[in-house]
Order: sequence, then structure tokens, then C-alpha cells
Amino acid sequence: MERKELIYTGKAKKMYATDQETVLLAEYLNQVTSLNGAKKETVEGKGELNNQITGLIFNYLAGKGIASHYIQEVSKTEQLIKRVEMIPLEVVVRNTSAGSFAKRFGMEEGIDLPFPILEFYYKKDELDDPFINDAHVKMLNVATDEEVRAIKKQALEINAALVEMFKKSAIRLIDFKIEFGKTADGEIVLADEISPDTCRLWDMTTKEHLDKDIYRRDLGDIIPVYVEVLERLKNI
Ligand code: ADP
Ligand code: UDP
Repeated sequence: MERKELIYTGKAKKMYATDQETVLLAEYLNQVTSLNGAKKETVEGKGELNNQITGLIFNYLAGKGIASHYIQEVSKTEQLIKRVEMIPLEVVVRNTSAGSFAKRFGMEEGIDLPFPILEFYYKKDELDDPFINDAHVKMLNVATDEEVRAIKKQALEINAALVEMFKKSAIRLIDFKIEFGKTADGEIVLADEISPDTCRLWDMTTKEHLDKDIYRRDLGDIIPVYVEVLERLKNI
């Protein structure tokens, strides 16, 4: 598969066309950002860690019958994916209070929620990805009611599979963000990435942060922490 023209440069990845119309190549970058890109830095080695972690997670999900856009890793920092029409939603699933959720409800972080809570954010950088509800999704023509139902069902199934997966690595899955796309035949499929950039992961016993909060909160170097996540996931 040949890498062709650059289609899109995002905050964490570059997307390239390939010699196959329906296949893209995602290159994972060393850039780390927070505050919607207002804070950013280059961290050597991050791209290859997130490329590998995402591949491992998408393969695990495939084994559980959960389809995604992932095809295969082609180099340390690159993977082939199926081209989909992205739905401009950041779908967040929360198992435990943290981050903006803890702040919004005046809760401490680390309180287990009675059931997984699903939230939608409208993916639009210029609006700072606002928190939206089902009516907004419909009004904005982001997705139909049927697509929203499919997204919610899949998001909760993905959560259940990921909680199990991380548990085997002694990691508590606090919350995460996923994105979905639509295939040419209208199927809703998990896309983008799942990595310590997009999940909150805590060590099950020490509650140590094993994710991008290390960067967001200036707690140290993310690389050893991301290596730790990769090594633990490799061993399950
Ligand atoms: P951002 O756009 O938030 O800065 P990235 O740097 O991760 O994020 O860029 C990757 C972009 O590619 C995102 O906009 C994402 O929605 C999009 N994308 C992810 N998977 C696919 C796919 N399979 N087909 C088309 N676009 C995709
Ligand atoms: N998240 C993400 N991209 C975003 C916003 C959030 O991947 O643009 C992830 C984040 O890593 C966390 C979850 O979504 O795992 C919930 O994040 P939250 O809403 O608490 O936002 P934050 O506190 O990061 O601003």
C-alpha cells in the first residue's frame, strides 16, 4: 500500500490518501496538546506509543466482535484505516468522576458512578467542542435518531469491553472519548484512536495517572507512563 497525498493535519495525527480509494494512512505525531490546542509541545516517541496502543486496543475490540476502522499497523508511527465519513461528535463515556465532569457537578474526582454516563460534545474547534444533547445533535443534522441509538449502543459495548481489558492490566478506566464514522453503506463504525491521550487511566492500586493528565496537569513526563500502559496491555 503506497502513501499518497496528505489530506489533513490534525493535533495528533496526519491523514494520507493511499493507492486505494477506501483506505487512509494515519500517521501518529509526537505533538501533545491540551486546552483545544492552546497548550502544545513535541514529545519524542509519543506517536509510536499511541499508534501501537491504539492498534492493540482496536484488535482486542475486534476479538470481542466490535468493528472499527482499523486495518493494520504499517510502521512504528503509521496504521492503515478504512476511510469513513466522520460524525462530528466526541462521544465521552464515564465510569468514575474526573475532569470537567467532577468540576461541573462539584464532585471530587475518583467517585464511581452508579452506571456509565454517556455525553456528546460537538466536534468544532472554533466553538471549543460544546457539550450538547440529543436534540442538538438532531437539530444540527449531525446524526439521525437511529444513528444516535447505534452510537450509544456501541459506545456502551465498547466501554464494557475496555473496562474488562484494562482491568486485566490492573488499570481502572475512568473515562474516555471516542469518535464514530459512517461507511459508504451507512454503517456506523468506531474510528479515530483510543490511547492514553483520549482515556483517563488510573493504576488500580496506587491511583497513579497513566494518561495525558500527566501533561495537562504538569505532573511530569508522559513517555514512561505511556510505555507502562503499552507494556501492561501487551501482557494480557
Ligand atoms: P483533531 O482533528 O481533533 O486535531 P487528529 O489529529 O487525531 O484530531 O486528526 C485526525 C482526524 O482524522 C480527526 O479529525 C478525525 O475525526 C479524523 N479521522 C479519524 N479516523 C478517520 C477515518 N477512518 N476516516 C476519515 N477521517 C478520520
Ligand atoms: N477527551 C479527549 N479529547 C477532548 C476532550 C476530552 O480525548 O477533546 C477525553 C479525555 O481524555 C477524558 C475524557 O475525554 O478521558 C473526558 O474528558 P473531560 O470532559 O473530563 O475533559 P477535560 O477534563 O479533559 O477537559
